Amino acid sequence: MAHAQTTTRKKLIADWQTLNRIFIRPEDDVARKALVKYMEQILFGLHDFLQRHVGITEEASLKVLADRFTDTRLSEQPEKRLADVISDLVNEIAPHAVNVASPYFIGHMTSAIPYFMVHLKTITAALNQNVVKAETSKVVSVVEKQVLAKIHRLIYQKNDAFYAEHVQSPYTALGGFTEDGTLANITALWVARNGLLPPKDGFTGCESEGVAAGFKAHGIERCVILVSRLGHYSLCKAAGVLGIGNRNVLAVDVDRHNRIDLNAVKKIMAAIEAEGGRTRILAMIGIAGTTETGTVDPLAELAAICARHQIHYHVDAAWGGPTLMSRKYRHLLNGIQNADSVTIDGHKQLYMPMGCGMVYFKSPYILERIAYHARYIARPGSVDLGIKSIAGSREANSLILGSALQIMGSQGYALLIEHGIETAQAFADEIRARALFELVSTPELNILTYRVCPPGFKQRLQTADTDLQKQLNAQLNEINRQIQVRQREAGNSFVSRTTLYPGNCLENPVVVLRAVIMNPMTNTQILNEILDEQQAIYRQMKTGS
Ligand SMILES: *Cc1c(COP(=O)(O)O)cnc(C)c1O
Repeated sequence: MAHAQTTTRKKLIADWQTLNRIFIRPEDDVARKALVKYMEQILFGLHDFLQRHVGITEEASLKVLADRFTDTRLSEQPEKRLADVISDLVNEIAPHAVNVASPYFIGHMTSAIPYFMVHLKTITAALNQNVVKAETSKVVSVVEKQVLAKIHRLIYQKNDAFYAEHVQSPYTALGGFTEDGTLANITALWVARNGLLPPKDGFTGCESEGVAAGFKAHGIERCVILVSRLGHYSLCKAAGVLGIGNRNVLAVDVDRHNRIDLNAVKKIMAAIEAEGGRTRILAMIGIAGTTETGTVDPLAELAAICARHQIHYHVDAAWGGPTLMSRKYRHLLNGIQNADSVTIDGHKQLYMPMGCGMVYFKSPYILERIAYHARYIARPGSVDLGIKSIAGSREANSLILGSALQIMGSQGYALLIEHGIETAQAFADEIRARALFELVSTPELNILTYRVCPPGFKQRLQTADTDLQKQLNAQLNEINRQIQVRQREAGNSFVSRTTLYPGNCLENPVVVLRAVIMNPMTNTQILNEILDEQQAIYRQMKTGS
């Protein structure tokens, strides 16, 4: 709580005078200097840190770290000056965090971000607008509507008249910002649920009367959500939160390419129909870039099925959505324009800082299903964005995204997307060329899975019956698990690990290494080094060291 000017090491005390000085006051020159000084300390401190530590993280285990953070008492008086806090964060915390910016960090959907994102995030923090209502955000509320319309147009490509009508209409909404993809999916399914159980004679709708009353009024016993086995677990959370029950998220089999199997979809739908209307489909989900394999479901075919049966069609493009900006690859998402709702994450392939999700709707009227017109906050026709969102108070993520789109242009993003897809293809070729490895899922976007599978195993697997396959896979699973852990612990590079079920055979799990290529600095040379390291770890394991 001590002020910037205080340099002597006197005891720190929280007093009213100092408190007054720490709040942002544009008219005060001292406050101004303090802001600049500390920003330099942070940015250069972190910059130097990233230069010194090219690895992923320092070696201390999570357990060791946990033991250092056990004091639960709140100190009554200030403990540290800002300068010391910043030094601690830069020197003590950052080294034990994860260097997600490293081009050797290819295990997750989080990577380096353009430096200007830090500046843009700082602006939103400094302005501290609350987008819940116009009275606390004014122009930011209209910027948000404009940015939403731009991405809506990228997805749905409606005509000029459509966007002229809706871009700033207080009565309609093209989508909304959320904190992340999970909440975007929940929002989409919330809208779908209220659409499945709408008001009717003597029933005011499930939002007011609850799901049980909704089921009763509409004469149904259960509703289900259809998604492939590779669906993100946020969909299960959604079913839980919305009172549907997460075991009613039905995992549909996938085909050889990890896309939802349309025959399996038809079978499940026929079985549901045979129940005579007691079970209804709340939503069908197409995934545009599955979290584990990056594959895209047959979006157009799913759209056609949903249109025929009047089912809410949601496309989870949390990962793959920005592919739409690449002229070269946008066709991979063909059919997304027919989705009733679409999720896209800003903090994934739009390279925004945590956390930014978005949900979009084909119909500008559909969000009315979840509108809350609280008396004191939002009258009908008000531009207050908090009327139609799960969140109440919310930061101005649209300022970050809107500015980033201006700085990058869709072509800038397209280059990043294309680099990821093409580098993943080159990586797949390299894996195929190495005898020790086996490519498990071919990259469609920029995610692929593979495993260490020595030639001896490969040969035996080819002729093995199911039992022997299971045995061999169990051995390989252990090998791959160990390789992934050892590589992670060595801290030079990071590839993640997941379990797939080829042929939808739940008794025959296959542990795979998973690579997500999104960092523009990740190139084939680096990827080769990562394979070399895995190869070396395998050899060490074999010689028992
Ligand atoms: C990442 C992801 C999500 C969840 O997004 P969060 O931002 O982590 O909540 C949902 N669906 C898919 C396909 C994803 O890849």
